[in-house]
Amino acid sequence: MSSLLVDNIGELVTNVAGSGVGAPLGIRRRAAVLVEDGEVAWVGPAADAPAADRRIDAAGAAVLPGFVDSHAHLVFAGDRAAEFAARMAGEPYTGGGIRTTVGATRAASDGELRATVRRLRAEALRQGTTTIEIKSGYGLTVADEARSLRIAAEFSAETTFLGAHVVPAEYAARPDDYVSLVCGPMLAAAAPHARWIDVFCERGAFDADHARAILACGQALGLGVRVHANQLGPGPGVQLGVDLGAASVDHCTHLTDADVDALASTRFDCMCADGGHTTTVATLLPGAEFSTRSPYPDARRLLDAGVTVALATDCNPGSSYTSSMPFCIALAVREMRMTPAEAVWAATAGGARALRRDDIGVLRPGARADLIILDAPSHLHLAYRPGVPLVRQVLHNGVPR
Ligand SMILES: [Zn+2]
Repeated sequence: MSSLLVDNIGELVTNVAGSGVGAPLGIRRRAAVLVEDGEVAWVGPAADAPAADRRIDAAGAAVLPGFVDSHAHLVFAGDRAAEFAARMAGEPYTGGGIRTTVGATRAASDGELRATVRRLRAEALRQGTTTIEIKSGYGLTVADEARSLRIAAEFSAETTFLGAHVVPAEYAARPDDYVSLVCGPMLAAAAPHARWIDVFCERGAFDADHARAILACGQALGLGVRVHANQLGPGPGVQLGVDLGAASVDHCTHLTDADVDALASTRFDCMCADGGHTTTVATLLPGAEFSTRSPYPDARRLLDAGVTVALATDCNPGSSYTSSMPFCIALAVREMRMTPAEAVWAATAGGARALRRDDIGVLRPGARADLIILDAPSHLHLAYRPGVPLVRQVLHNGVPR
């Protein structure tokens, strides 16, 4: 069993509440982390660090859990740069461009799709993302959704069936038939490769009745629930997600007081290692508002109400073509009135909660050894120095990348 000591850490963000300062980050100063067999084996003062086979000198820098990006659409072909340019020239975002990517994705080979996922997965890892959820949703046929998830599963254990992304053009006149296809043969083909089911519950996509029917079918096959909710306007998505015990409702840009109350009241018993409860997380995706020039979600309102907030990229070729969690942290701090500590927590532990995981987004004995060493003395620099590549080194499953 080989061991690795990350030593001489100036600021260690553990996300273990009560174990340090700067709640909820659980910050330790002058710390070290011992890694064995891909897991964190020990965390403590650098002066007490045990011997190890190998050593990485953090040279006084900040060390954080790897980012957990709980919302990304990586299986696609083509890009929509022209659509972005048109939006920046004043055209509104409606979500309709998804069908452009559907056409390109259906026409692509497995090898082309796999190469895109591999490239984006590597791009995210370089920027500190050690867990990334990957959705289908640009195939929208039984065969194309199944192959999208098969390819996604080669790169992540967190795969999500999003057959209900939009109603494809060939079903435009008969959306009920498309819902039957999604709930029947498409779900049956997708479920073996998916952990989650998701629906784009939005005007122009799927209404509450359709969304509820689709999510219930997925739940019956053992898939966990996530919802694209309340992005483009007020709607039923958030409360539907809460009703169904969703792990996360994502976007949450247009919320009523009742939506916020519903999220704040979610409490489900769980067997979490931290002894805590689990909730329906509000996952905010500020890259989408940035790239569609839309008003940002009100993170402050959610946090003040006691809602658990996560940050994710929504990486996709239409509305948010970024894989950068540090960029999302900077946006959340500057544009959504989150403190740097809240944003860093939301991008690590928050993302883990949104995936109902307690072995990532945290640095404690037994957790996965996913951590990042910054080219900076503090987590504050992630928002303070926007756009600067501050991730010096990534350990993924204990392996330096
Ligand atoms: Zn999305």
